[in-house]
Amino acid sequence: MNKSKFLLIAIAIFALTTSAMAQKKNDPTLSVHTGKHRQEIIIPQIKGYNVYKADFHTHTIYSDGNITPSLRVREAWSDGLDILAITDHIEYRRIERDLIKYMGEYIKEEYRNLPKGVNTNLQDVAADERGILANLNTNYDEAIESNQQYGMLIVRGVEITRNEGHYNAIFTTDNNKIYHPNIKQSIQNAVDQGAYVFQNHPKHNKTTKTSMSPLAEELHNSGLVKGMEIGNGWAFWGRLVPYCIKNNVPMFSNSDGHSTIAERFQPYYNDGVYRNMTFILAKKCDEKSIKEAIEKGRTIAYHNNRLIGKEEYLAELFKASVSIEHLCDNKKETVVMLTNKSSLPYSVKVGKGEMIVHAMSAVQLALPKGSASAEFTVTNLICGGNKRVKVTMDFKRKPTNPYLAANETWYPR
Ligand SMILES: [Zn+2]
Ligand SMILES: [Zn+2]
Repeated sequence: MNKSKFLLIAIAIFALTTSAMAQKKNDPTLSVHTGKHRQEIIIPQIKGYNVYKADFHTHTIYSDGNITPSLRVREAWSDGLDILAITDHIEYRRIERDLIKYMGEYIKEEYRNLPKGVNTNLQDVAADERGILANLNTNYDEAIESNQQYGMLIVRGVEITRNEGHYNAIFTTDNNKIYHPNIKQSIQNAVDQGAYVFQNHPKHNKTTKTSMSPLAEELHNSGLVKGMEIGNGWAFWGRLVPYCIKNNVPMFSNSDGHSTIAERFQPYYNDGVYRNMTFILAKKCDEKSIKEAIEKGRTIAYHNNRLIGKEEYLAELFKASVSIEHLCDNKKETVVMLTNKSSLPYSVKVGKGEMIVHAMSAVQLALPKGSASAEFTVTNLICGGNKRVKVTMDFKRKPTNPYLAANETWYPR
């Protein structure tokens, strides 16, 4: 072999090895896909605020739920949420009996023969002198660790659960220091930590003015409880909306998920319905900004494709989501197009007619001939008992093709 032939072979071998190396680097099987997917729910800014999607009421195996905090976090991220609170019951914790058995030799001698744990059901009896021995921050710690893969905002919280009523405390700092046999003192303990407390799944009570229980009225009036969960799973307490609007009580809608969210909400997914969410209008998605937004009443409750909140925010939400454009005039009508660039559907009533402007869709609408504005009632935007949001949208008229204007039917042929 002469020198030049050897050189050629050497170059060829070098080229082949480097191209093989390069191929390995770009090998699609080495791509960084982790197998996790998220549904994005697109909602435009309202009055300069971002709209963050939250669920402030969920359970895990650490109370009476069926899934771990880690799966709760993954599920929330996958469902498109930005904020999650795991709010296990402090009084009801069925896992302890299993954990004690599971931990076996790890458990201190005096606790070994406690097949049911200690004080694990305190909904209608007070804890004995041993109090609650479990570490009620475990769910939060697990969620925080798991959330490193998802980057949501995880809010620490608990559900205070008595026969007199259920109350969620969010933004707590130590869940082990909340329990007290007296429900009011328990709520006070949470408030002393800087927590925000709202009333869960309120029941109607015909004997009081607000239709809340006397205790709930007292807690709201004293300022210990500030918010109201008007949507919980499939239950909706529309009768309390006027009370919330009148008294500036922020409204929440949460899943109260015990098992998987899919199990609870999937039958409705095909109709474009998401899990319950509370929308928070805030500049940033950090604890301080979100808490401030709630305290200032910047919440919208999303429940079964209905949005419940203050009229000013709902009207802005509609206007930010849906645009109007004049297409043409025919002999009888002015035809406009409504384009919805959000993930939420809107049910629009004009005169006696009603139609849905579906998420990420456009529809055409006939108005009285010569119209330069449209007045809608958006029937799924609820800002009172029977009150729905009314919106007026002006549009710029375009010159119409005289052929269309002269003909009865303008539809494409
Ligand atoms: Zn409850
Ligand atoms: Zn609950």
